[in-house]
Amino acid sequence: MPELAYVNGRVTPVSEATVSIEDRGFQFADGVYEVARSYNGKPIDLDRHLARMGRSAAMLDLPLPMSLSELQHVAEGFYASSHLPEAVLYLQLTRGAGPRQHVGAPGLTPTLVMTVRPVLRTTPAEFTVITVPNNRWLMCACKSVALLPAVLAKHEAVKAGADEAIFVADDGTVLEGASDNIFAVKAGVYYTPRADGRILAGITRERVLEQLAARGAEVRVGDMTINFLRAADEAFITSSVLTVVPVVGIDGRPIGDGKIGSAATAVKEDYWRFIREVTA
Ligand code: PMP
Repeated sequence: MPELAYVNGRVTPVSEATVSIEDRGFQFADGVYEVARSYNGKPIDLDRHLARMGRSAAMLDLPLPMSLSELQHVAEGFYASSHLPEAVLYLQLTRGAGPRQHVGAPGLTPTLVMTVRPVLRTTPAEFTVITVPNNRWLMCACKSVALLPAVLAKHEAVKAGADEAIFVADDGTVLEGASDNIFAVKAGVYYTPRADGRILAGITRERVLEQLAARGAEVRVGDMTINFLRAADEAFITSSVLTVVPVVGIDGRPIGDGKIGSAATAVKEDYWRFIREVTA
């Protein structure tokens, strides 16, 4: 049964799942979410995703409806009931449904929604990106459902004929993609912005950093300017859904020679090897 939904314990086809119009997720974007991929019937890094969901919820003073280990158990059980070996598992937690007033009434029951769906899009071979001003709020380390700036940035990218938008701070510091993290490679050294609250600390970014360290690559996690990224030899983005995608163009100009490079290819191969290992 593909496309399953879970709403506070009730499992139905996605098309039959509903939440209240008074849900604070709908009214105020008062909630957090996670997205994990599965391969061969096994979700990747679900524990890390749920730990991040716990941190995101804590940033909003949003109570979890159950412990993280119970949540993992429930999410795994729900996923298993779909019998989809390759899927995207989505989790959303909101402060619940209540009268529309800014401050949530005490004692609301949080709304926990999950969906499991087949993977619609295979990982693209390469991306081009545009840069956009960082018009987001100041808590980007929180994976909140307030995604309007990301939605508008991706809309702009598509209008410009690109695949993704990269948020750049007013001072020219590169932050991250609308739904992924960015890496640059220059003279064999890997660079990525530090996870200092202005970006989401991606689970895939973390895995890639661990893999680069394991093979002794030189890595600098810190500030990266837009001019540096434009002049890089290679760049790539990371996310759970897309894994690793080489970025070959930015704002209509090539990065490096405009072709998929060997460093990005090696990172992608490492990550896919990890997926094969943990799902074998
Ligand atoms: N940054 C943002 C803003 C995102 O929405 C995502 C996707 N969740 C990422 C980075 C990548 O995170 P992950 O590797 O955990 O999927």
